[in-house]
Amino acid sequence: MRNIFILVFFLNYFIIFSQSKDTEVWGPVPEKINTYYDNLPPSDAIVLFDGTDFSNWVTWGDKEPQWIINDDGSMTVVNGKGSIFTKESFGSVQLHIEWKAGTKAISKHKDQSRSNSGVFLQRNYEIQILDSYENPTYVNGQAGSVYKQHIPLVNASRKPGDWQSYDIIFNAPVFKNKKLEKPGFFTVFHNGILIQNHVEIFGTTTNVGQPKYSAHGDAPIMLQDHCCIPLSFRNIWVRKLE
Ligand code: MG
Repeated sequence: MRNIFILVFFLNYFIIFSQSKDTEVWGPVPEKINTYYDNLPPSDAIVLFDGTDFSNWVTWGDKEPQWIINDDGSMTVVNGKGSIFTKESFGSVQLHIEWKAGTKAISKHKDQSRSNSGVFLQRNYEIQILDSYENPTYVNGQAGSVYKQHIPLVNASRKPGDWQSYDIIFNAPVFKNKKLEKPGFFTVFHNGILIQNHVEIFGTTTNVGQPKYSAHGDAPIMLQDHCCIPLSFRNIWVRKLE
């Protein structure tokens, strides 16, 4: 009797084991990479700024950016010298960028007049950068908003003078015959906190009126020279998603 129990047990085990094999998938095997660690980018990332130079960037008129490179491996916006653009064009990407709001004359500035910039994907779609630590403004224009389109889920801002990070997943819009076939989407983490959860992009960022799309292909990433207290960037890298 005991032997029959043992036999049934192993028979069952064998059947379940062989059935579980039916749903195992062994390929294609994901590429093994080194992850983001200790400020070193992932091994499959394209580094856009490593603190040494503007070799991957231009400003208006294809000229060399006139922003400042600091000894600590960061760059600082010089307001009035123009936004900067990557030389390379991108489609869908994962983008990592770190930024630090300035502290200079902070009591004299409020609302959108603190450190104000933005990271634009494909030169068109802005994730707002703003000192939003203790600085009320319209909520669809605070740090981490998809500017004038989506309010961040929470305010994950750190105080001016502290480094902050955005990790942005951008699914580029798809155009066919100059018409929108599929809108773009943003997912954004601010200092590791999910603040935009796969939100639909309604069109090119605009400050006045409703956004709408204009067909385009791959395009540069832009960092905005807006105003008012200069802010800094460091550790910028992307991973292509297509
Ligand atoms: Mg902005």
